[in-house]
Amino acid sequence: MKQKRKLVTEIPGPRSRALWERRTRAVPAAVGTTLPIFVQRAQGGIVEDVDGNRLIDLGSGIAVVNVGHAHPAVVEAIAQQAANFVHTCFQVTPYEGYVAVCEQLAARTPGNHEKRSVLVNSGAEAVENAVKIARAATGRPAVIAFDQAFHGRTLLGLSLTAKVVPYKKSFGPYAPEIYRAPFSYPFRGTGRLAETLEWIEASVDVSQIACVVVEPIAGEGGFVVPEPRWLEGIAQWCRSNGVVFVADEVQTGFGRTGAWFASEHEGVVPDLVATAKGLGGGMPIAGVTGRAEIMDAVHAGGLGSTFGGNPVSCAAALAAIDVIEKEQLVERAQMLGNRMLERLVALQHDTTGIGDVRGRGAMVAIELVNDDGTPDAERAKRVCADCHTQGVIVLTAGTSGNVVRLLPPLVLDESLLDEGLDALEKAVRG
Ligand SMILES: *Cc1c(COP(=O)(O)O)cnc(C)c1O
Repeated sequence: MKQKRKLVTEIPGPRSRALWERRTRAVPAAVGTTLPIFVQRAQGGIVEDVDGNRLIDLGSGIAVVNVGHAHPAVVEAIAQQAANFVHTCFQVTPYEGYVAVCEQLAARTPGNHEKRSVLVNSGAEAVENAVKIARAATGRPAVIAFDQAFHGRTLLGLSLTAKVVPYKKSFGPYAPEIYRAPFSYPFRGTGRLAETLEWIEASVDVSQIACVVVEPIAGEGGFVVPEPRWLEGIAQWCRSNGVVFVADEVQTGFGRTGAWFASEHEGVVPDLVATAKGLGGGMPIAGVTGRAEIMDAVHAGGLGSTFGGNPVSCAAALAAIDVIEKEQLVERAQMLGNRMLERLVALQHDTTGIGDVRGRGAMVAIELVNDDGTPDAERAKRVCADCHTQGVIVLTAGTSGNVVRLLPPLVLDESLLDEGLDALEKAVRG
């Protein structure tokens, strides 16, 4: 498919609007929609809708298609594996692909220690399993999560997640023994390391803490990059107190931030790493990778999932990991990120209402604020809607909903990125 933006109808067009009618009768409004165009095809950095409009994708299906939509190597791996076998359940009769993905996870995640991995289906499931493993390994119940945290929509995932509307509202009661500490938020000047550690020690019996679950960069929480050394300080505190350090790299993993994993930027080696989104090149697959002695502390048969590490998803993951390596997408993420930051910082100085420009690699956001510095969620919504009308897919984020985030596929042409940024700039200038 030609890597070019093309608008042939208004957005959404008549065919998408007709499908939207059908959708409203079949799917509850509880399942949200960022942009109600219905997709027909997607390739590389372009999404084509049923009306023939071609949009530039700066969202990657929420940081999933890091290798681009329908990468030929991924498509080929899927087709070949599907022709061989689609499912057996790894716990019934195993297959090589699962083992090979676990070997790749061991090789790519931070640290040279001996590792094991378990494969599951989604980010939420990975985080839940990380907590189960940490509890089994320590014999302790308590879990520390943070402000700005997002860890998925299952009950434990939601219990760990900070944001109430829309995620948590009316779905409680939540899992017990979860404590929410301040997250480092440099733009707001909150959650310095000393403050966070004091909060933990004052609020929880440290001898009862199984694990700290932390995103190295808060994703849904607004691409908040903690202040330098904060993550390292938390990891060090965990080591001193026998607490398992769990990095939720579901959104930040697989080259997204200009490193294989975002923990690397801080020189941090997590005890357990939860992965999902970018792992499968578009197919659903997730994992928990960790120190052998922690992973092996769980009793035989204690972990598993019917579909976890599905053979087709494993084949796609192996292909996607190979593409990230061969096409040097980690380096490319850095290049795309620098390009975005440069443009957006210039825009911030030349306009009003952009309080902060931040991010790492191809994970970049602007935080929109009112004159008094309070969050301006309305403006974020308007900016996104304007980009969509121009044929550029962007997403919002932030606990207050006032952040516009950019997560382009790491294969995106520079010229398409520039075009997307032109549209964003026009939207911000209004
Ligand atoms: C998306 C996300 C999750 C949840 O992943 P699902 O696959 O939607 O369950 C968990 N943690 C982080 C950091 C995420 O970005």
